[in-house]
Amino acid sequence: MRVYKLKQDLQAHLKKVLELQNAIGLVPTMGALHQGHLSLVTTALKDNEVVVVSIFVNPTQFNNQNDLHNYPRTLDSDLKLLETLKNSNIIVYAPEASDVYQDEITAQSFSFDGLEHEMEGEFRKGHFNGVATVVKNLFEIIKPHNAYFGEKDFQQLQIVRKLVEITGFDINIIGCPILRENDGLAMSSRNGRLTQEQRNVVPFIYKTLKTAKVKFGTKSANEVSEWVKSEFANHKLLALEYFTIANETTLKPVKRKNKQNKCRAFIAVFVGDVRLIDNIELN
Ligand code: AMP
Repeated sequence: MRVYKLKQDLQAHLKKVLELQNAIGLVPTMGALHQGHLSLVTTALKDNEVVVVSIFVNPTQFNNQNDLHNYPRTLDSDLKLLETLKNSNIIVYAPEASDVYQDEITAQSFSFDGLEHEMEGEFRKGHFNGVATVVKNLFEIIKPHNAYFGEKDFQQLQIVRKLVEITGFDINIIGCPILRENDGLAMSSRNGRLTQEQRNVVPFIYKTLKTAKVKFGTKSANEVSEWVKSEFANHKLLALEYFTIANETTLKPVKRKNKQNKCRAFIAVFVGDVRLIDNIELN
């Protein structure tokens, strides 16, 4: 497995592959890899000659400097985990910020038809400008034919789709299902920061989402939301930041159920200072 720190070396390696069809897959990550990330890489390996896994903690998408500072950086064990796939078609791009950004390490400002103002956009100001900037830069550096994103960050996936539509990149965006631990907790690089006591209670998040899905069969979005709020109201360790039932395409909150529109429930919860997100398809 090759590991590149500099884009010019990576680009030299990719030059020959670039001319083939469906040749280059990209899986952008911030490292601290787990099986959820590997599932994206495995899917990408099926469709492409080579798969570039970028490992880069993008500073411009953090609205909270503490979160940026505490974000796990584990390149050695990330490489070991990727090695377990035993596939020489994986290429790692693990750059410094100066390699990904041209002059200044700042986010561009984007407009995504309002997708950027909902949910994560409301609670993490500027987050999606940072995400879109780094994804756009990675697309320009790597020029992938296919790029893979997890439904774990469903809003991000929809925003990347919109980015491609707006900018005209000729890249297929492929959404991949959420990988979970046996107790239902969505795999996340942040889970490693939980204490044992916190880890024991966090499966409550997905359990609540699953019950919300059942309730959505007979109740209104508003009734389900009120029920979820009441479930978290007196929880000792979990603080609900938001629960929203939204239209999958517009990401706007659903007021009235309509069979034609696909809905999804989205949740963000603080466990101490660790912030976890999850979502579930409803219909
Ligand atoms: P991150 O390193 O957290 O920025 O994630 C990199 C990519 O992996 C994103 O597209 C995420 O949505 C995806 N991802 C993270 N966790 C999971 C998971 N549990 N299941 C599937 N995809 C995931």
